[in-house]
Amino acid sequence: MVRVTAECHTRPMTGSSHGFSRCTIVPPYLLVRLARVDDPRLAAAAEAARRSLMRDVPIRELRAAAHPTPSSSVHSGVRGGAAARVRGHVDRAVSDAGGLERLPGRLVRREGQPAGADLAVNEAWAGLGDTHSLFWNVFERDSIDDRGVSLEATVHYGRNYDNAFWDGERMVFGDGDGLVFNRFTASLTVIGHELTHGVTQFTANLTYEGQSGAINESLSDVFGSLVEQRSLGQSAAEAGWLIGEGLFTDQVQGVALRSLKAPGTAYNDDALGKDPQPADMTGYIETEDDNGGVHLNSGIPNRAFYLVATALGGNAWETAGQIWFDTLTSGTLGRTVDFAGFARATSRAAVTRHGAGSREHEAVIAGWTAVGLGGGLGTGSRPRSGTGPGTGVGRATVVPAPRPE
Ligand SMILES: [Zn+2]
Repeated sequence: MVRVTAECHTRPMTGSSHGFSRCTIVPPYLLVRLARVDDPRLAAAAEAARRSLMRDVPIRELRAAAHPTPSSSVHSGVRGGAAARVRGHVDRAVSDAGGLERLPGRLVRREGQPAGADLAVNEAWAGLGDTHSLFWNVFERDSIDDRGVSLEATVHYGRNYDNAFWDGERMVFGDGDGLVFNRFTASLTVIGHELTHGVTQFTANLTYEGQSGAINESLSDVFGSLVEQRSLGQSAAEAGWLIGEGLFTDQVQGVALRSLKAPGTAYNDDALGKDPQPADMTGYIETEDDNGGVHLNSGIPNRAFYLVATALGGNAWETAGQIWFDTLTSGTLGRTVDFAGFARATSRAAVTRHGAGSREHEAVIAGWTAVGLGGGLGTGSRPRSGTGPGTGVGRATVVPAPRPE
């Protein structure tokens, strides 16, 4: 039996208040399930899943020993010095591990060089660019650290490796086993998801465990979805709101790893089981697995965001996305913020940008209320002078007591 421990965690970096996270896109419970399948037609996939699970341990130990820092990944000489650099210019580097489990692999393309013929390289390249473009052109954040750090990726990692991950300094993509999982560069949401772990690492640095870990996961799903929506020019109403669409082969009964619109419905397959995500707090899962359910309970804040974005209409990255980005980068989130605290913070962010009782503020309150987290948010339409529990709109009247978030 494969025993899975935390597949992604955060630890302090040497000489920095930031931590780094190693976060895989496919949660451990899904690979464990696949590893146990005894259908002979899926034997190779089960074996690939077992190997993928085992690989995560040496990855963690290797990276932990290296004390990577995001700034160390910047290619020297690319920009001619920080002073000469123009903000907002994307700087990418994609390497090829050639089926080995060594990082970074052979550098095959850097900024300014033409595209080659390798599909995975080209998809990773485009995905890094689309993600950078969302954060810069919409939120004016210059790369994941807001200082233009290079976005680096390695493709063709390992043989049939059934995962993709952010290791604190680069994105790493497996080719998948070909039976259950396709190549992991196939979904733009995966690239946006993993790089958003980098943004979170440099901002709120949410502890990757329990509710703060589920918020960390949810933020990656939210911005991963927004990267794809903006790239495709989809409005909130048009978007699929799926994470990892296209990762499953046509052998799998399922459309994606997760759904923000309808958590718990992304797949229902004989081999993989059913998508276990809850859609609201009545289904909240108490577990020690998956770092306390970070990939499970993330369905709850994911759906809150979907509800806010679709209530507001238009492009989700413009209004709802901005409120969530403001919340993430506000500097007020505690590292172990819980769902209720995060909901309050989004409400405050909506008030700051749009005003108390605004349409945007009302939408945020309604979104959280629908998933069972509206308590303490009040109603946006009441005047500030409203009295009694739950009637106020300002932070002084809706927040019961000061507490770390
Ligand atoms: Zn993640």
